[in-house]
Amino acid sequence: MGNTSLIQWTNATWNVARGCNKVDEDCKFCYMYRDSLKYGYDAKQVIRTKTVFNLPLKLKEPSLIFTSSLTDFFHPAIDSYRNEAWDIIRRCPQHTFQILTKRPERINQHLPEDWGDGWDNVWIGTSVGSSYGIHRIHDLLKVKTKIRFISFEPLWERIDLKSFNIDLNQIHWAIIGGESGNKTGKYRYRPCEIEWFEKLIADLSPTTQIFIKQLGTHLAKEMKLSDRHGGDISEFPKELQIRQMPLAYKPEEIGIGVAV
Ligand code: SF4
Repeated sequence: MGNTSLIQWTNATWNVARGCNKVDEDCKFCYMYRDSLKYGYDAKQVIRTKTVFNLPLKLKEPSLIFTSSLTDFFHPAIDSYRNEAWDIIRRCPQHTFQILTKRPERINQHLPEDWGDGWDNVWIGTSVGSSYGIHRIHDLLKVKTKIRFISFEPLWERIDLKSFNIDLNQIHWAIIGGESGNKTGKYRYRPCEIEWFEKLIADLSPTTQIFIKQLGTHLAKEMKLSDRHGGDISEFPKELQIRQMPLAYKPEEIGIGVAV
C-alpha cells in the first residue's frame, strides 16, 4: 500500500485525540509539543479528533497503523471514548494497529472485555529512552498481547538492560532510534552513541526482532550524514543495518513501512 507516514516502521498514523501530558524525561522534547508551537494549539489539552476518528474504517488497503502518534492511547482523558476506538479496531481485522504508550500501567484496566490473550490485529508497546523508563517494560510484561514491543527512542542514555530483572524473551520487537531536534532552543536533540545501539542489540534476546529506525541528529551531524535525522539505513554502520519486523507479521499481506 502507499505509505502516508514518514515513520519507517508503519504505513499510516491514526489519532483518536491530540494532546498529552509529559510523564518523565523521556518526553522532554516530545515532537507533539514542538509541533504545537508551529500550529498554535495547546499541547496539554487532550482533545478528541473529529474528521479522522473513523479513519481506519475508510482505509481500504490493509495497513500497519501507528495508533496515536499525537497523544497517548491510554491517557486518562481518553477513558470516556476509548471503547469507541476499540470498536473501530475490532471492525478492522484487515489492519494491524501498533499502539505505543507511555502509560502501560493503565493498559490492563482499559482493555475491551473480549480481549482474551490479545487480538490478532493489535500490537502493544511502550517507549523507553533511558533507565528512567525501565519500569514501563515491567508493566508491559503484565499485559497479554500477541505482539509486545519496546521503542527505545529517543535513546538519550546508555541502557544496561541486563542489569534489570526483565524477561527479555517476552519482547517480540524492539525499535531503536536516536533523538531528532535542533542544536539550540526549546526542542533540542540529546546526544546518542553508536555503542548504545550495539549494547541494546547485544543485550536483547535473540528471539526479539530489531528495527533500527534512525541514528538521530547528534550522530547525523557527527558522522556528516546526508539525512539530518540519520534515518537513511544505507548510511548506518553495517552492524546497525537491521530493519526486522515481528515474526508473526506477514509483509506480503500488508507491506513494510518504508519512509517516502
Ligand atoms: S507520552 Fe508521548 S505524546 Fe505524551 S508527552 Fe510523552 S512523548 Fe509526548
